[in-house]
Amino acid sequence: MGRLVMKFGGTSVANIERIQNVARHVKREVDAGHEVAVVVSAMAGKTNELVAWCTEASPMHDAREYDAVVASGEQVTSGLLAIALQALGIQARSWQGWQLPIRTSDAHASARIVDIDGSEIIKRFDERKEVAVIAGFQGINAETNRITTLGRGGSDTSAVAIAAALKADRCDIYTDVDGVYTTDPRVVPKAKRLDKVAFEEMLELASQGAKVLQVRSVELGMVYNVPIFVRSSFDKPEDIDPHGTPPGTLICSEEKIMENHVVTGIAFSKDEAQISVRRIEDKPGVAASIFGPLADANINVDMIVQNVSEDGKTTDLTFTVPAADFARAKQTITSAQDKIGYARFDSETDVAKVSVIGSGMRSHAGVAAQAFAALAARNINIRAITTSEIKFSVLIDAAYTELAVRTLHTLYGLDQV
Ligand code: ADP
Ligand code: ASP
Ligand code: MG
Repeated sequence: MGRLVMKFGGTSVANIERIQNVARHVKREVDAGHEVAVVVSAMAGKTNELVAWCTEASPMHDAREYDAVVASGEQVTSGLLAIALQALGIQARSWQGWQLPIRTSDAHASARIVDIDGSEIIKRFDERKEVAVIAGFQGINAETNRITTLGRGGSDTSAVAIAAALKADRCDIYTDVDGVYTTDPRVVPKAKRLDKVAFEEMLELASQGAKVLQVRSVELGMVYNVPIFVRSSFDKPEDIDPHGTPPGTLICSEEKIMENHVVTGIAFSKDEAQISVRRIEDKPGVAASIFGPLADANINVDMIVQNVSEDGKTTDLTFTVPAADFARAKQTITSAQDKIGYARFDSETDVAKVSVIGSGMRSHAGVAAQAFAALAARNINIRAITTSEIKFSVLIDAAYTELAVRTLHTLYGLDQV
């Protein structure tokens, strides 16, 4: 007997039939003798609809009320799945974040989990063999008693945090693809499924745009050493042997991975905006005068390029911010033009960041250089570059994203043959 957390994303609970399919997946594990806590997302498209309603009601809405609205999607699916399980003769009960509770920070719309009280769930495993169906994506702030949400894709994080709190043997993430691929299989049909991915690599893949797992869920998996298994809810529940090895990808520590690729995968993100601040004075303190106010406004700056000034007087500073924060970033910088001291503000919002990730880069030189040559051969211009130990990223025009991803996928031998 083991203890499992099973998480089902939006497309896996998109309608009643899909929820009944999920119930059969859960029944399979219960019948195999496991203690099961299920974490559900809202029905596919529901969260987008709720977010749009908030924006329509007022573009500058109160984040506390946004959370009250968007957390409702998961409330519906948790109740519906409990009903579907009961209809199969399985003892099941739904739980909202506040009922356990799942305590979070008060950063509404992007709250962090602080702790989870799993005692009632464990008690019910022991006493009643009851399945817990937990609404993902949401929690409660203990000081204010208000509902919070964990940021888009946050049900993954709920699931891994619950797995850690319940000391589960594994956290299964059921989604609409049967694992983590070398890149988004919807963009590159030749992408290959990976059997195992190290936490560090998955962290980079997720933070650079592979939305199959929320970044924070991978962080928690790494810190609490929760094995995360990404698999498909579209495999027929009855065809799966609960004691066998189903298709999927295990996210685990690096030591467990025998084969070490130079490049493991490629991620991309079109949610970027490039800002160039032209002819700023080349003197100590200017970077702080630009990035300080952006940090105060909670805007994450990513790629940064600063030229060495030619005349020793002025220089240009180029960097990227999330597209969603572009308007605020522009306002922050232009309103401080006199204080910063620069001549011109330029920007480009039609840009994309393509990132190549692989722990083998630690020991192989020239991996990025190959990419620059291959992109040049396709006439793709690189606007900015950043590198880290196991990753490099290039900023390009958004129109070339798919071409760049496919070119690099082939270049590093990742295509399925
Ligand atoms: P869920 O609703 O189950 O949480 P998501 O839509 O959040 O599912 O994440 C699954 C999607 O992630 C897939 O449909 C796929 O298009 C996308 N994706 C992006 N990069 C990858 C990758 N490297 N491997 C697998 N899927 C990926
Ligand atoms: N329903 C939320 C979203 O769409 C959380 C999740 O699905 O993980 O972002
Ligand atoms: Mg998701």
